[in-house]
Amino acid sequence: AAPSEGGTVRTTCAYCGVGCGVAATPTGARSALIRGDAAHPANSGRLCSKGTHLGETIGLEGRLLYPEIGGRRVGWDAAIAHVADRFSATIAEHGPDSVAFYVSGQLLTEDYYVANKLMKGFIGSANIDTNSRLCMASAVAAHNRAFGEDVVPCSYADLEAAELIVLVGSNTAWCHPIVWQRIEAARAATGAKLVVIDPRRTETAERADLHLPVRPDGDIALFNRLLADLRARGVLDEAFLRDRVATPDGFWETLDTGGDDGLDAADRAAFFDLFAAHPRTVTLFSQGANQSVCGTDKGNAIINVHLATGRIGTPGAGPFSITGQPNAMGGREVGGLASTLAVHMGFSEAERDRAQRFWNAPTICAGPGLKAVEMFEAVADGRIKAIWIMATNPAVSMPDAGAVRAALAACPLVVVSDCIADTDTARFAHVKLPALGWGEKDGTVTNSERVLSRQRRFLAAPEEARADWDIIASVARAMGWGDAFAYTHAAQIFRDYAAQTAFENDGARLLDLGGLAGIGEEDYEALEPFQWGGLSPFADRPFSTPDGKARLIAVKPPQPRMDADFPLRLNTGRYRDQWHTMTRTGLSPRLSAHRPEPLVEIHPDDALAHGIFDGGLARVESRAGASIYRVAVTDTQARGTLFVPMHWTDSLSSGGRTGRLPSRDRDPVSGQPGFKNHGARIGAY
Ligand code: SF4
Repeated sequence: AAPSEGGTVRTTCAYCGVGCGVAATPTGARSALIRGDAAHPANSGRLCSKGTHLGETIGLEGRLLYPEIGGRRVGWDAAIAHVADRFSATIAEHGPDSVAFYVSGQLLTEDYYVANKLMKGFIGSANIDTNSRLCMASAVAAHNRAFGEDVVPCSYADLEAAELIVLVGSNTAWCHPIVWQRIEAARAATGAKLVVIDPRRTETAERADLHLPVRPDGDIALFNRLLADLRARGVLDEAFLRDRVATPDGFWETLDTGGDDGLDAADRAAFFDLFAAHPRTVTLFSQGANQSVCGTDKGNAIINVHLATGRIGTPGAGPFSITGQPNAMGGREVGGLASTLAVHMGFSEAERDRAQRFWNAPTICAGPGLKAVEMFEAVADGRIKAIWIMATNPAVSMPDAGAVRAALAACPLVVVSDCIADTDTARFAHVKLPALGWGEKDGTVTNSERVLSRQRRFLAAPEEARADWDIIASVARAMGWGDAFAYTHAAQIFRDYAAQTAFENDGARLLDLGGLAGIGEEDYEALEPFQWGGLSPFADRPFSTPDGKARLIAVKPPQPRMDADFPLRLNTGRYRDQWHTMTRTGLSPRLSAHRPEPLVEIHPDDALAHGIFDGGLARVESRAGASIYRVAVTDTQARGTLFVPMHWTDSLSSGGRTGRLPSRDRDPVSGQPGFKNHGARIGAY
């Protein structure tokens, strides 16, 4: 199919990491008919409720349309000069690590590339991190530990080839609906079994052949036990272990370190039987695994089982991290995380030298930068004196969001570039820069299965809004780096990105787009979705470690998190029809109708014990803060646990502000905050 035909433009959905293709037909200056793109491999024409209603969210209501300094409208030249001067002066006085960028999985790969190049190669700091840190940084760390590179070793096609699909910490039916439709279609066609491992009996769990209501953070104990059981049954793949996997001394003994998964013995045994009987197993894991203080270990506990049984690199088998945001993967590829230099490279001297030479940069960062939580702590204590926040709302979405607000209020320079004018974060901005939104911008995104596709423009740029890459490159030029940031078209940036993946790569990294390093603007415009690395990337090539072998990683179950003053365990998550902090989906009346207000879900026994009633109001409190919710009493919630949605903000609601509740506790390897399994208490309000 042509990229645009008869007024219809083929683009990619603005929301989740499934990465569905969208066919948009403008019906007016600010309206469009939205359908699924039948030619896109992720969705073959299907869309979920959020994607279907994208057309309701492209009006100009609430948009940031002009640059502002100190709340006053200014021209672009003045705004760019001000940001460049203030960043340059801060760096000159306090050094490169006194500034930071906090970016977003909503950015396109080209935006990410320019931001990363500016910070790491030209400013000379690695203080650029992304809200993907809150989403799947633990999966990244687990991939790096096991495979030597952040590579998702599966494809959606594996769902259709699997005999057994295991979902860990994922309400797929709500959060990745088109993946869910593919799972349901595959089950209907092949009879594949479905196991859901989740403390909550979600809509996804209701549809499973077996639901395992694991206790919060009980996953490591469960997967260690599973691996010990498979070994005892003799169903490990000894040849694969010998030829393709490095097993550390003492690894097998660590499987016996106990830990309580909270499951009935019969349920556990049923799961182990299913796993042993079905070699073609795909284990998908998502935020329920990642958003934990032991999320990296959970990822490796899952990957260990697949490596030891050889269930990776063959059709219908593998550990499959499904990402949250539309371009979390593209950001990971170019280096949008403080813990990656660029194009899957780390910070060794050779890699830093390689990046500096490729960019022809005047300097290069010395090592990893501050991860999201650390970054805002550094803003709070004054180490970071200037921060540029792009396309994200950390005043709501970060854990201990109250502390983030206090930090931003005291920061000498807060720059916010966004398409929305009045986000909770924008209220702290000294400078606001209007960015293009979905439908207005051009670039590429990468979805959960490594399919790279184009987001294409079908709406005119409103008023003075500009592309993020254009804003960043303009600031870089004003800081004195004109030659390196002389970009005038997204295709030029894509070419640089593709060339960097291949630069002195020599097969060390799977991410290699060198074949596209010379792509012209017409071919870039016509670029069809394609998958880098192939369907099963490690089927016929070594893993990306020095010896080519994957690694089993010994992981121990965490100590149960107990707090006598906050005895309930609080989990957070998504609603089906809302996205992030609702700056876009909140504009759609039909989407808001699904769950019009934020609810705290609680088991009937706990509701009785705490004197609260279905439909009443309750105050939920943690050590970090408190918020008010409408109560939903439901036995889908395990005893001793609460669930609240993540979406509502100060600007939308007087209650349900979940960002106030999680603490800053985080995974020691990935730095990902543990949004799940917090101590909490509840009382009638
Ligand atoms: Fe968009 Fe995700 Fe829904 Fe697909 S599943 S239409 S990418 S929100």
